Amino acid sequence: MNFIPYGHHTIDQGDIDEVVSALKSEWITAGPKVKNFEDELNAYIGSKYSVAVNSGTSALDIAIKSLNIPNKSEIITTPLTFVATSNAILYNNLTPIFADIDPKTKNINPEEVKKKITNKTKAIIGVDFAGHPCNIKELKEIADEYDLFFVEDACHALGAEYCGKKVGNLADMTIFSFHPVKNITTGEGGAVIARDPILYQKLLMLRNHGIDKDSLSRFGNEADYAYDMKCLGRNYRLTDFQSALGISQLKKLDTFIQKRHKIAKAYNDLLRDERSIECPYSAENVRHAWHIYTILVDKDINRDRLFAELRRKMIGVNVHYIPIYHFTYYKDLFKLDPICFPVTEDIYNRTLTLPLFPELNEEHVIYIVNTLKKVLKECKY
Ligand SMILES: *Cc1c(COP(=O)(O)O)cnc(C)c1O
Repeated sequence: MNFIPYGHHTIDQGDIDEVVSALKSEWITAGPKVKNFEDELNAYIGSKYSVAVNSGTSALDIAIKSLNIPNKSEIITTPLTFVATSNAILYNNLTPIFADIDPKTKNINPEEVKKKITNKTKAIIGVDFAGHPCNIKELKEIADEYDLFFVEDACHALGAEYCGKKVGNLADMTIFSFHPVKNITTGEGGAVIARDPILYQKLLMLRNHGIDKDSLSRFGNEADYAYDMKCLGRNYRLTDFQSALGISQLKKLDTFIQKRHKIAKAYNDLLRDERSIECPYSAENVRHAWHIYTILVDKDINRDRLFAELRRKMIGVNVHYIPIYHFTYYKDLFKLDPICFPVTEDIYNRTLTLPLFPELNEEHVIYIVNTLKKVLKECKY
């Protein structure tokens, strides 16, 4: 058995042909393919304003920057996420405030969010953990009541739905990532979906140095050289050949998600009777995007030993996530006591991510489940 990673991209000849064709075209960056990709994203999501950028992290950064929040203000988010969510808050001279999570969905708990609100709070960033949308209804109610922005880090959740609505239409801004482990890929890449046309214009400028005109509009015999720089932006542009890959990948997104659902269901069915683990929860009112499949082991199982044994047997299990306040940089900055986050700590100590990606076949799934069942018995404390 070759090593089975926890996540993997799916690239076919059609994807490769689209990238090659873009590379042979007049524009390899800042050209028409970027807008085409954004239009296709809008068509898929049912949104109006999408801005493609060079990573999910860049998307988070300009989304937060576009809100014009005064320095040292606070943004409430979950500690059980990838560091990028919280780092993007720091890039903008703002303070991340962590609120504990809900044990079922592993998403930020609205009750805990309320407890963390102060007069410095300006926004909430929810993360759709594993592809399960966060508790949008309650988070939006809180945001409305306290006049906060609500941003959804949906890097796990492209294609997910909440109460029949596609993720991307629910928050003030929604963030996606197209890193190879995510539901579609452009190599590196990301996008912000905005609901407000003014924020949209701002995001376009922030992606391109803060300049008010892009290269396409300054090209040709009738164009003027003049442009203005209106704010301090970045170069976060996505290339045309990456956008071509994105367009091609997006056509297959629903097939990818169906395959992910099938694998998640197979895990659920095959692991249902295994007493020492708990399968992931999915609420009735969501369409899960199944970015990752995370189980919880019982307290009498040594998770780290289980992890090591499964890795030895070529199964690329993982741990999502090490809570952010555990990292040296964050410890030095904030000195947060893990005791303040009992649910996050409990999940962190017991969680294990099983491999899940569209090309994982039935033979893999059976091997993973059988090995897991066998190894579990050897990993009791
Ligand atoms: C992947 C991810 C990001 C960062 O996306 P990149 O494209 O890798 O920069 C941010 N937040 C979450 C929750 C992610 O999973």
